Amino acid sequence: MADRERPAKTPIRVGFYDIERTIGKGNFAVVKLARHRITKTEVAIKIIDKSQLDASNLQKVYREVDIMKRLDHPHIIKLYQVMETKNMIYIVSEYASKGEIFDYIAKYGRMAEQAARRKFWQILSAVEYCHERRIVHRDLKAENLLLDANMNIKIADFGFSNYYATGELLATWCGSPPYAAPEVFEGKRYTGPEIDIWSLGVVLYVLVCGALPFDGSTLQSLRDRVLSGRFRIPYFMSQGKDL
Ligand code: ATP
Ligand code: MG
Repeated sequence: MADRERPAKTPIRVGFYDIERTIGKGNFAVVKLARHRITKTEVAIKIIDKSQLDASNLQKVYREVDIMKRLDHPHIIKLYQVMETKNMIYIVSEYASKGEIFDYIAKYGRMAEQAARRKFWQILSAVEYCHERRIVHRDLKAENLLLDANMNIKIADFGFSNYYATGELLATWCGSPPYAAPEVFEGKRYTGPEIDIWSLGVVLYVLVCGALPFDGSTLQSLRDRVLSGRFRIPYFMSQGKDL
């Protein structure tokens, strides 16, 4: 039933959840805030229309779910339930109510180093947990680092994640260009964790400086900056010993 035919105030329901509003949009997915009808618990539901996906993108969604099922960490969005119909997939997960750290920095500016250190420590503990399980995220960026009600980090969006094995190389270009490692720009093959580590460096810079270390008006100029490895160290950055 289309929204306009729906009687006012009748909530759209997915399983035991009432949909409240849209909180995010991706290429193939829309993310909604929903509430459990009985417990009133808030959750995020990523809704994917399978008919819009080709076989390889559908495979990626199944991999995202498969990987999320294996992860149970205080700083990673917890998967609660997956529902599937002929056309749709509904991924129900923990809701991070304070949203993206990207928006937080856009609104309040860069973080004090002590605060950034605390957030970065949480991010590191979650990424280390993934790598210990041979899982590489491949899309670490400020838009995928969410904050819960207590301002703790929750890593989201395992849509580019994959398994890796020592001695086996991955080749897929993943993630967002400003966070991509030089070897990704060069089309080289990589084991996995090292490209997350590069992105973590970019994340730390963004937290502390409120700007990207490598930027460019075109992909080519961004690539040149990343490959040169040169970035600005702003005057306000500490010298390193005093944290
Ligand atoms: P993109 O292609 O833009 O990366 P995507 O389709 O992979 O998007 P996600 O990154 O999982 O989808 O979600 C898109 C956005 O929705 C997030 O950046 C975030 O703002 C919001 N979002 C997703 N999951 C949650 C959650 N559990 N709690 C709060 N907000 C969320
Ligand atoms: Mg995302």
